[in-house]
Amino acid sequence: MTALIFSVSTSAGTGHLAPGATTAGAGPISLSRTSSHGPCLIRGAREIQMSEGIPTSDGYSRSTGTVRALTLMIDFSDAPGDGDALDRFREFFPQTREWFRTSSYGRLDYRPETPIPGWLRMPKSFRAYGIERGAPFDPGYRALVQDLVAAADPKVDFRAYDLVNVLVTPNAGPSALDTVLSVTFAGNPEAPTADGTPVANASFVYSRQDDGSGSYDRNGYRVLPHENGHVFGLPDLYTAEGGGAVGHWDIMSEDWGANNDFLGWHKWKLGWLDAAQVHCVATPGTTEHTLTPLARAGGSKLVVLPLDSKTGYAVELRTRAGNDETVCRPGVLIYKVDAEVDTGMGPITVYDSRRDSGGCTRAPNVHAELSDAPFTPGETFRDPRKGVEIEVAGVDLGGGGGGGSEGGYRVRVTRG
Ligand SMILES: [Zn+2]
Repeated sequence: MTALIFSVSTSAGTGHLAPGATTAGAGPISLSRTSSHGPCLIRGAREIQMSEGIPTSDGYSRSTGTVRALTLMIDFSDAPGDGDALDRFREFFPQTREWFRTSSYGRLDYRPETPIPGWLRMPKSFRAYGIERGAPFDPGYRALVQDLVAAADPKVDFRAYDLVNVLVTPNAGPSALDTVLSVTFAGNPEAPTADGTPVANASFVYSRQDDGSGSYDRNGYRVLPHENGHVFGLPDLYTAEGGGAVGHWDIMSEDWGANNDFLGWHKWKLGWLDAAQVHCVATPGTTEHTLTPLARAGGSKLVVLPLDSKTGYAVELRTRAGNDETVCRPGVLIYKVDAEVDTGMGPITVYDSRRDSGGCTRAPNVHAELSDAPFTPGETFRDPRKGVEIEVAGVDLGGGGGGGSEGGYRVRVTRG
């Protein structure tokens, strides 16, 4: 059983495809910032497909307020939908809606809608679309989107929706254990139009991410918040080598196994943090910050130290709470963000406070080595070349005294 689960972990880490196109048009993501955040708004100079830069480029779906997700269940003559299409819908909802509500502190009100509650039959066989792992948008996905728009159009006003979820009947294509086909084409103004607007942000989900560990009912939906992360402009954080860059600290890194949250950087990028919750430390000197757990609403969430116009360190407090259900060593997570590294190439790297320790979890599909990456009180991260020191100075228990999770961690940041 262990061997099976660990081999699954490999396929999970390389499972999803890089998203589709660069961006243009549509509404920008509203970002809370003040002029003091200026040096921390890092951007890549090169044109890349999807960047960690802030603010996110135009063309992606809004990620705050009410977001309406047109959700279609499709099937094919050679893969007819088995049973009730709404059962397929219920593999992902209401969990995905709840996941976003929790992660966003209520700022993203995600409304999945199914104006067509049955299976929407595509005019060609699944095989005829030539969909396989790595398939580009043209020609297969273009044909599929054109066909599903034509089939749905009599009953659907596409202008009413911010994004599209296509839940493919799970019997089409290979098992996700062998090959993950799930993919998102995001910020894609070249997509076919429907009711006069391009289907620019669409997530396609195939098969079932069921690792056989018995947790599918609880965790199998998590591929959808990952794919929707792309429609909101977030890149993949796993690389060709798997989840070793960020581990289980973001759903864009690992979306199999136990639930996990977004990094604070992503929450800032998505507009879920107030300006006062993000501290930009750009000038020499020592400052102290009390970080509250990222999973809980309120308080300071993120310290950013820009290194140049494209890169920076980010600092946040992770505990077992909210969507973070498998944190085995609470503490201060430190990572480097590079806005010039593309999706799937490692735009974020987490620093491991205990390298080669083997980690503190054996949970299936959780990258073990980085599970104990957070720095704990008394520990210091040092980058002598950049003149940066980040010390975890202590824990404020707060009123509740509940093992530190209600209070915060004091972090002392020194720049040379
Ligand atoms: Zn992905």
